Amino acid sequence: MSGYLTNRYRDLTAYVPGEQPPAGMKVIKLNTNESPYPPAPKVLKAAEEAAGKLNLYPDPDQNALRRALAESLKEEAGDSGFVPKPENIFISNGSDDILNFAFGAFSDSDVPAVFPDVTYGFYTVFGDLYGTPYKEIPLKDDWTVDTKDYAAECAEGRRLVVIAEPNAPTGITLGKEGIRRLLEGCRNSVVVVDEAYVDFGAETSLGLLAEFDNLVICRTFSKSYSLAGARLGFAVAHESLIKDLELIKYSTNPYSVNRMTEAAGLAAVEEKDYYMANCAKIAATRGRVTEELRALGMEVLPSKANFVFARHPEVSGEALAQGLREKGIIVRRFSKERIRNYLRITIGTDEQMDALVKALNELLTGERR
Ligand SMILES: *Cc1c(COP(=O)(O)O)cnc(C)c1O
Repeated sequence: MSGYLTNRYRDLTAYVPGEQPPAGMKVIKLNTNESPYPPAPKVLKAAEEAAGKLNLYPDPDQNALRRALAESLKEEAGDSGFVPKPENIFISNGSDDILNFAFGAFSDSDVPAVFPDVTYGFYTVFGDLYGTPYKEIPLKDDWTVDTKDYAAECAEGRRLVVIAEPNAPTGITLGKEGIRRLLEGCRNSVVVVDEAYVDFGAETSLGLLAEFDNLVICRTFSKSYSLAGARLGFAVAHESLIKDLELIKYSTNPYSVNRMTEAAGLAAVEEKDYYMANCAKIAATRGRVTEELRALGMEVLPSKANFVFARHPEVSGEALAQGLREKGIIVRRFSKERIRNYLRITIGTDEQMDALVKALNELLTGERR
């Protein structure tokens, strides 16, 4: 820290992203929940074509992509009564960008944020960034959210409620009815539902937008759409909340989504079937890996995401992560006391997961000797 850093940022502790090993290093990378499957061929072609126009600024409103997303989400909203329109969609440079804007737009020293004690680690960082007090509400012993806790908070005054659904890093869901209860208890607060992993088998809360104009649903192309490297995320909400998010985006960087990324995103939406098939494949792999890890004596939480959260009752998370690393497999671990012995393991290809299970088997039988 230099002597010039303003007081505003002096106490800020930045988010620590999962390790990105240098290109060329031979590892099985199961630590940042990327898709093991490549983008669809049409997506690559679209990005390449867009590259030819990099001398021109992109469309700051992403109108083409918003129209395509509105169409694609119609199906998911079902017969709820919510009919997604481009005006309900906000697009930016990854969903971290959108969460950043949401904290900026909907929380401050007078509007505290509330979220679970075990959830996406970025929420506390955004709270600190904006000088927003926040309360981390403990998940129940079975790692589920008690919606009554949030109703009690919101009864005290306006809050910014943030829930990852499915939750990260546990993979556990609250379900659409749970989210409805949460919204009912927090009618005067903005409720952000971070659906980064929803495509891997969880229930979306999109349909609830028919009833609640205080709901913001956040999605990303990073996981289910194999575009982590392109940086693309979007929010779906009532038009007035979308306008609030646009206010912040246009006050910082209107061109936060580059031409290649918008083109890639547009082609990806058109190739939805390819991506949903990949998600189904990942969900199937998750099911079998969960059983195999349990057979090794590990406790594995029931996940609806593209990762599993697991621990061994007798071997520390640190020892397991280190042992895996020595065998060329990288997984994610967190320092927070309640979860320090857990490993968050991204679901890769079947071959990658076979290697993971084999390595853990060797480590665990070695440990007991
Ligand atoms: C990965 C992730 C994000 C961020 O996604 P990007 O679009 O890559 O910024 C947001 N929320 C959760 C819960 C995530 O796991």
